Amino acid sequence: MIRVTRRQVLGGSAAALLGALHPGPRLGAQTASAGPPAAQLLEDLVAANRILADQAVLDGYGHVSARHDRDPARFLMSRSLAPELVTAADVMEYGLDSEPIDPRGRPSYLERYIHGEIYRARPDVQAIVHSHSPSVIPFGVTGVPLRPLYHMSAFLAAGAPVWDIRAAAGDTDMLVRTPAIGQALARSLGSHAVVLMRGHGVVVVGSGLPHAVFRSVYTEVNAKLQAQAMGLGGPVTYLSPEEAKRAEGSVGGTLGRPWELWKRKLRRDP
Ligand SMILES: [Zn+2]
Repeated sequence: MIRVTRRQVLGGSAAALLGALHPGPRLGAQTASAGPPAAQLLEDLVAANRILADQAVLDGYGHVSARHDRDPARFLMSRSLAPELVTAADVMEYGLDSEPIDPRGRPSYLERYIHGEIYRARPDVQAIVHSHSPSVIPFGVTGVPLRPLYHMSAFLAAGAPVWDIRAAAGDTDMLVRTPAIGQALARSLGSHAVVLMRGHGVVVVGSGLPHAVFRSVYTEVNAKLQAQAMGLGGPVTYLSPEEAKRAEGSVGGTLGRPWELWKRKLRRDP
């Protein structure tokens, strides 16, 4: 039984009293960490940040995340920091509401809702890259569809939808800064590998970090090659759906090769 003294009531502790009578949800249960991620996952997340900066997909902006290996309702992402500078100590754990579990004063990326809402909508997705990949931007603003020009980008065969933030939220600063805007983006992504963000950038998803990094690199390369091919003036021949299916199957078995190369190049850097 809760005893309330006259002094407590007169002292203005009504809110505390209400809290005592109606404790509400157990916040502690929702904010407990899922525990430390596997060392390999953490190492790969740091590498993914630095590889994508090295490959000019990310610059001072953009971010990479990975679903937590201990809890599918959690993901891992750096605190707000340029990707090239990310170390294991910068990685924080997030809930699917895109809020950090234990921020300890460390700021989060404004657009973290991209990640939480896609992990929520796509149980198959294990890693997400959001970038301002420069060659992709024109395909988000011209109505020219991004299509697979060669075997390395066969994953584009199902199409890369263009998401317009204006349709979801009117005039904004173009940033995915709320859960509702993140949900609209996730709906536009649907079951695709890539969604273009009109006037902003791109989101690429994968079944793991090497997969999402591979797709991000070759989305950028395909966009550059497609613009060059279209600039030559003749009709462009794209991969047929059957060619794309076969090529994705073949290339999919070799993802470890570029991943090891890209990681090795990082170690050579001073
Ligand atoms: Zn952005």
